[in-house]
Parts: sequence; C-alpha cells; structure tokens
Amino acid sequence: MPIYEYEVCEGGCKVCGGTFTLNRPLSAKPLTHCPACKKPVRKIISGFSTPHKLKPLSVSDAKNAGFTVLKKIGKGEYERQ
Ligand SMILES: [Zn+2]
Repeated sequence: MPIYEYEVCEGGCKVCGGTFTLNRPLSAKPLTHCPACKKPVRKIISGFSTPHKLKPLSVSDAKNAGFTVLKKIGKGEYERQ
C-alpha cells in the first residue's frame, strides 16, 4: 500500500494543518483537493513501492550514503563512529 503525502498549495488549513498523509489504493485517482477544507493540494511523496526503502537504515547504510554517524557518549557529547 503506497503512502501519499499531500500538501495544501495555497494557505494553511486549520483542519489538516497544511499537510496530510493518506493511504490510498493504487487504483485511486490522485487527490486534487483536501477532503477537509477543499483547498487544492499537491502530492509531495508518492509511494514507498521499492522494497529497499522499507528497510530500516543501518549505521553502515548511512555511512555508505555519506552520512557521518554520531554516537551519543554523554550529555551533549557525540563521538564519530
Ligand atoms: Zn485541509
């Protein structure tokens, strides 16, 4: 089941807060208006269909992706791993 995240195009929405996520079947048409406030929305994320994205990011994955992984060693102190 893909997750669609929508953002209200113009103005904040007191009902949805401006962004909202929906679980929608693939067969469903893309949403064009907020179901709560009827403002026009745009889709910002569509789907997590590739299996590797569902895997939790590990430290080695993060390093491979170029991230500096910091380990908390004390209050306000971090150590490079
Ligand atoms: Zn709304």
